[in-house]
Amino acid sequence: MADHANSIQRQTSVSLDRLYSFHGGLHLPGHRETSAAAPIASGGIPPLLVLPLQQHIGEPAEPLVRPGDTVCKGQEIAQPVGAVSAPVHASSSGTVVAIEDRPVPHPSGLPANSIVIETDGKDSLLETDRSPIDYADTEPAELCERIREAGIVGLGGAGFPAQVKLDTRQKHIELLVINAAECEPYISCDNRLLQERAAAVVEGIRVLRHIVQPEHCIIAIEDNMPVAEQALTTALATVNETRMTVTRVPDIYPSGGERQLIRILTGREVPSQGFPADIGIICQNVGTAAAVADAVLRRQPLLSRIVTVTGNGVANPQNIDTLIGTPVSYLVAAAGGYTPDVERLLIGGPMMGYAVQSDNVPVIKTTNCILAVTRDEMPAPPPVQPCIRCSKCTDVCPADLLPQQLYWYARSSNYDAAQDYNLFDCIECGCCAYVCPSHIPLVQYYRHAKTEIWALEKQTRASDIARQRHESRQNRLSRIKQERAERMARKKQALSGNGGGEEAKKAAIQAALERVLHKKQQADVTPKNVDNLTDGQQQLISEADQRRRQKNREI
Ligand code: SF4
Ligand code: SF4
Repeated sequence: MADHANSIQRQTSVSLDRLYSFHGGLHLPGHRETSAAAPIASGGIPPLLVLPLQQHIGEPAEPLVRPGDTVCKGQEIAQPVGAVSAPVHASSSGTVVAIEDRPVPHPSGLPANSIVIETDGKDSLLETDRSPIDYADTEPAELCERIREAGIVGLGGAGFPAQVKLDTRQKHIELLVINAAECEPYISCDNRLLQERAAAVVEGIRVLRHIVQPEHCIIAIEDNMPVAEQALTTALATVNETRMTVTRVPDIYPSGGERQLIRILTGREVPSQGFPADIGIICQNVGTAAAVADAVLRRQPLLSRIVTVTGNGVANPQNIDTLIGTPVSYLVAAAGGYTPDVERLLIGGPMMGYAVQSDNVPVIKTTNCILAVTRDEMPAPPPVQPCIRCSKCTDVCPADLLPQQLYWYARSSNYDAAQDYNLFDCIECGCCAYVCPSHIPLVQYYRHAKTEIWALEKQTRASDIARQRHESRQNRLSRIKQERAERMARKKQALSGNGGGEEAKKAAIQAALERVLHKKQQADVTPKNVDNLTDGQQQLISEADQRRRQKNREI
């Protein structure tokens, strides 16, 4: 038995003595110098906060407040629905002025249901127990519940509710990876977080390590972040932490992608449409680790995040500690406003981000970057040409897909074929579109196809439920009909069995008439007659009368 266990251990043991590479990827200019050089600024409290009910992967949260309610900072204003969901908290105090569809940061450009808070400027914190939880003495499930209550989602961009990833009760976790490999150009929020708050990150990693109990823990950092690396090393030494390893990974885009990072560190592939936990690995972002420390050690829900506001289109590129729900327009103003030659506004970086038509959208939990670019900096894409089947897109795809095939199938709405070609393994990194000589906006096609497939699945699920409801109603009605028919048949049989024929029918009718007459006589006890009765008799009649009236009402 022991030999068998050892052999499994040998087969599955993760090898961490060297780095591996992944297929494809790109070397891209960083453009991070300006924003990474400035200290994190405070975004302040905007006059309005717009908090969408869906800021995560999964079901949208359900409002707990109504227009007119006053709320405190940190108060839960929307509760999660189902296992994969996250609550929403008021990020400052004020009054709920609306719950309605508002523009939100999403590639579709569609509005979404949001809670709008007019802030009062007091920033009054909800009064509650804020004593730190002794995580080392607390069950992992209880800590996961605390993380769920705090509304923490993956802050690296995906927005997967953190507690769902951490719930590894059925799985043995060999490796916990903390992702500080911020590989997309322009974005430097994780870099600044490590430079200024490395101690909080280390605290959060210790909590995460206690939850998932891994054999190893690695903090992966890009090899172009020396100051952040030094801050992290110092924070680890300060608390005498020796069970975490800092590993530098090459600056190749997208080395910070979860699957690509796991590949670089372990040489292992996360199975198609599977999760890292399926191969004994959990990956969390550094920002998420800091949020976990706030939730467990300071009992503070996720109320703010660091956002990189950058590009030649803003006056003072920098990282800003921003309340969730802050309008982008307010944040850009905090960064000195737009420059005269600003051309386009993107949410996210230049590779994975998407353009928005207006800055009237809020910062949500997954917003890591606001990028305002000028025409010189990022010229408008040239006209799209037909695909020439050059296969350059395939050469750079870090997910080992066939982007041109996916393009054909997505374009022709052949979604079954697109799924056969693993559309859902596409991480939307944009490498294929970046190198495409025909300037085809490939990622837009993939996003559209995914959205359509999700919508079709939702529709199928809804019609399945409607069909099941209809079938069960039909079954119930036919059962009632059958039972009624059986009752009638039994009555008929009983009548014909009691002497049979006309005589029995007459006797039954006579008995029914007598019953009716008897009831009428009972009902005819008028107040005049009642006067002649004793108190006990009056009481009994009154109770019987009440019962009769009640019965009539029910009928
Ligand atoms: S890079 Fe563009 S043109 Fe070349 S095969 Fe891919 S989609 Fe077609
Ligand atoms: S966007 Fe998708 S298909 Fe294109 S390179 Fe990235 S992973 Fe591959």
